[in-house]
Amino acid sequence: MIRSNSLLLCALLLTMFQAAMCQVNLKSVDQVWDHYDRYKEPVITNRFFKHTEVLHLIQKHTTSRFIDAVQIGQSVKGRSINHLKLGTGKTKVLLWSQMHGDESTATMALFDLLNFLAADDEHNELRKLILGNLELNIVPMLNPDGAQQWKRRNDLEIDINRDARYLVTPEGRALMNLAKELKPEIGFNLHDQSTLYAAGPTSNTATLSFLAPAYDYPKSMNEVRKRATQLILTMNTALQTRVPGKIAKYDDAFDPRCFGDTFQGMGISTILIESGGYYVDPEKQYIRKINFYALLNAFESIAKKSYANQNLEDYQSIPENSRSLYDVLIRNVSISKEGIAFRTNLGIVRSQIKSPDFGSMSYNGRIEELGDVELTYGYDEIEASNLTFTPGNIKLMRKSEWEALSPQQELNLIREGYLFVKWTDGTSPAGPLNARLLNLTNKATNTIQSASIGQQAQFLLSRDGKPVYALLNGYVLDLTKNVEAVPNVFGY
Ligand SMILES: [Zn+2]
Repeated sequence: MIRSNSLLLCALLLTMFQAAMCQVNLKSVDQVWDHYDRYKEPVITNRFFKHTEVLHLIQKHTTSRFIDAVQIGQSVKGRSINHLKLGTGKTKVLLWSQMHGDESTATMALFDLLNFLAADDEHNELRKLILGNLELNIVPMLNPDGAQQWKRRNDLEIDINRDARYLVTPEGRALMNLAKELKPEIGFNLHDQSTLYAAGPTSNTATLSFLAPAYDYPKSMNEVRKRATQLILTMNTALQTRVPGKIAKYDDAFDPRCFGDTFQGMGISTILIESGGYYVDPEKQYIRKINFYALLNAFESIAKKSYANQNLEDYQSIPENSRSLYDVLIRNVSISKEGIAFRTNLGIVRSQIKSPDFGSMSYNGRIEELGDVELTYGYDEIEASNLTFTPGNIKLMRKSEWEALSPQQELNLIREGYLFVKWTDGTSPAGPLNARLLNLTNKATNTIQSASIGQQAQFLLSRDGKPVYALLNGYVLDLTKNVEAVPNVFGY
């Protein structure tokens, strides 16, 4: 009796000890999260960095002998594609980012991770665990020509992620050759997706979406794909503490043109990570941190092989990626069109306009939907049941008067019903304005008289003839608030 009691006690103590150990380890990745600013690569401050910065950062880590870097190919325009290697472990992991040139969020996170792994502080135990068990093989910015012009495709105008079979692109060939040479157990295919995806039919942004790609048309499951799925479940569990409800899964239809699907078939457990949107994070700097956290959790789990405890059935509970968001959704607004007055909804989407040097972005907001909307949401939403769509007026003034207008004066003009300025002594330039509220026009009258699909989102919402909101190139300005609260409307 005593014996079995002590056995029971032993078992209980062991369980408690294991739980405590687990707690300690879990805490360590979360403590890194708290210290993230130490590791955030300061050279990269926004999404539009180029190959030059990437080379500079690679050099920083090779000079300190933290990584080995080897050129594995060059882009169509002769820019180097580099393979960075670190860690002495048995499990080979291959990560590549930015095969689509305008999808840079994970590249930022990869350099933050390198800084973390190269540092020497209280997180050394986690570093030792990762670098002792994993061999990390990283190809940052696989498509440097695309990054240079902030575009998806390479300079042959081929989508590298549809080139896994033909291997026409030098960038795709470099990746395939590396994968065949390394034969990694695990691969991470790192992308960005539209910020207009939601996690299921909800208003939650799909901040990260995952996929363990299929390797055949019937979407079969084998040990290789199972491991990828279990790693996704591991990251999902951790991420729910940071971005609850904002993780989705991508459609798993097989596409043999894609690298993820092809690698899965080659025996590499491949995980697609798509960085999407997050409220008030247009530069994706918070999503960068989320990527860092997701990958660090994955590395820890690979090192411990703890992902094997994940139950595949839980994958069903991750919501589907669903394109159901607008930048702005105006509900139940009264509009008048073709002599008919009615109430409807307006979905507004802001499209990106590249600066001439591809180093920044401004935005052009347009009406994309007009009519009944179901299970769709907006980053900004206006309940406009008691509001009426009202065209803005054009204020005439001299160029010097326009240049002297303060933000408060601009706001006052908008409250009076003006949305445009026309210079009386010259022609105003086309293109985006920086930090202005009013738009410039050279037209005598405002052509935006009612809501139309494809039309610029530059109008007022009025109550009893008084403007309450202004839509400025697709950005919402609440006219009851101070001008200090206004976002930088025409890009940055
Ligand atoms: Zn992509």
